[in-house]
Amino acid sequence: MSPKLRYYSTNRNLDQVPGISPFKEMVSFREALLMGQAPDEGLFMPEKIPSFPVETFKALKGAPYTEAAYLVAEAFLAGELPSEVLRRIIAEAYNYPVPLENVLGRKYILRLDQGPTASFKDFAARLMARLMGAMRDPGRRLNVLVATSGDTGSAVGDAYRGVEGIDVTILYPKGEVSGRQKKQLDTIGQNVKAISVDGKFDDCQNLVKQAFADPAFEGFNLTSANSINFGRILPQIVYYVWAWAQLARDTEPAVFSVPSGNFGDALGCEYARRMGLPVAKLVMPTNENDEFPRLLETGVYQKVSPSKACLSNAMNVGHPSNLARFFDLYGGTVDRSGVVHRQPDVEQMRQHIFSVAISDRETKKTIKRIHDQHKVLLEPHGAVGWRGMEVYLELYGDVPLCICLETAHPAKFPDEIRELLGINPELPQSMKDLDGRTGRPAHLAADYEKLKAYLLRHLKGTD
Ligand SMILES: *Cc1c(COP(=O)(O)O)cnc(C)c1O
Repeated sequence: MSPKLRYYSTNRNLDQVPGISPFKEMVSFREALLMGQAPDEGLFMPEKIPSFPVETFKALKGAPYTEAAYLVAEAFLAGELPSEVLRRIIAEAYNYPVPLENVLGRKYILRLDQGPTASFKDFAARLMARLMGAMRDPGRRLNVLVATSGDTGSAVGDAYRGVEGIDVTILYPKGEVSGRQKKQLDTIGQNVKAISVDGKFDDCQNLVKQAFADPAFEGFNLTSANSINFGRILPQIVYYVWAWAQLARDTEPAVFSVPSGNFGDALGCEYARRMGLPVAKLVMPTNENDEFPRLLETGVYQKVSPSKACLSNAMNVGHPSNLARFFDLYGGTVDRSGVVHRQPDVEQMRQHIFSVAISDRETKKTIKRIHDQHKVLLEPHGAVGWRGMEVYLELYGDVPLCICLETAHPAKFPDEIRELLGINPELPQSMKDLDGRTGRPAHLAADYEKLKAYLLRHLKGTD
């Protein structure tokens, strides 16, 4: 058995910062998974990134997705779960197709929208839920607390529904989710409760972060399932590895374009590259929340506050929670409020990463153009990804193999698709029964004391 990988906090060096007492310990994968966030509100990072020779990745050509998932998960778990348990939960988690759709030349769409809630968040949530189920202490209930701008909540809720010993509370911003997303969230049921909050996504995220920092919840085993949990990042490494193996000629590097909000998805690609995957460039287009492209351009980080409401609503993030991990990987430190304590090596970031802000207008034009020219259907997030790739290639020249992630199913945006293309996107099977489902969310003001009172009334600490 390989020695355990250990995980540290991104805030471990912030000794001089008022209000932060740096967490200097290292924890196991299991502890990082169950704690979600470090006690100093930093994010857990593996101390070493496992790597493989490129032949190992090439050998996944023609292999089922679950093989790639096992390779990556086994490397990061390093013996913390028996391999037959890991294989079983991976097989349960990934029981749906992962299509690669050719658009033109060797430019592909990687469709991550075939899971039960039709967004790429299913990939992370389904594996993380099962890892938590397999790794929790028997007898101690876990309370998952999640802030979502739509797709996370339904993916997480669905992934945990019926999981023994785990309850899930989802906070979503009342005015920032589509009608269908709201329906998905409100009707999950069983051990999963949705709360609609009068506020923005950032407010929801801050409420959750305050609850994690509040000693009143010590007995409740609070844990996060949003993009700050390393258990959410790990599964998001896999599809880069798998897609590359299916499409690459020999050891040719690929451009990946990843529509980015909280940067968890793109972080998966950053790790994949550091594991040895040939990545020519990680393209991270954002919507009009352009704090990251501006950092790469100017070297100065300034969050967008309040965040802007754009068409690609799962990316309406003015200070991405996983930015702290990108900073850490490039030698910098940024805290959760967006204050930079140590500047990352921006020049080195530029070598590996390209970012550009795509306006709603360009997003719509891209949906229409790609459909008219190639008969390929994109929704707003995927269109931001595609346009970001085009901008990169226009500026720096062609790269033969490009893979753009489509992160949600077009049927989740029926109004936009109808307006732009005059067609009704066919619902995936998983969404067809949604209309008949019923359920009512709780409703709260964006006020921490109200949330606290609600949680103290509803949560249970033990079985
Ligand atoms: C969450 C989400 C994104 C952004 O992913 P991050 O990991 O937050 O950058 C993009 N598209 C869709 C559909 C999403 O749900």
